[in-house]
Amino acid sequence: MEICPNCGEEFERLLALSRKDNETMICDNCGTKEAFEEFLKMVNSKGRKWILMLNKLKKWCKKNQFSFIAILFVICFFSVLIIPVLGFLYIVDYLFNKWVEKQEKKKRKEE
Ligand SMILES: [Zn+2]
Repeated sequence: MEICPNCGEEFERLLALSRKDNETMICDNCGTKEAFEEFLKMVNSKGRKWILMLNKLKKWCKKNQFSFIAILFVICFFSVLIIPVLGFLYIVDYLFNKWVEKQEKKKRKEE
């Protein structure tokens, strides 16, 4: 039996490595908890960065008398547009590669 230093409960084996110091072994529950906390922290810091960026954009719009909503709309529009464009490029690339393969096979047969 081992005792988890984090929650003090007894377990047969401590299976998770603590992310706090990377050497303490803790129980599975605490490991999951720590991973989740880390994930929340990451989301939080990313979210803050996005909000800061949006605020900067807002200020910039005020300065230059652009409509903030119009710019957001343009950004959304392009990000939606870019998905089918990327898909199209992917398909074109795929077909081109197939075509090249075919040509190479033909050449080999002729030789
Ligand atoms: Zn624990």
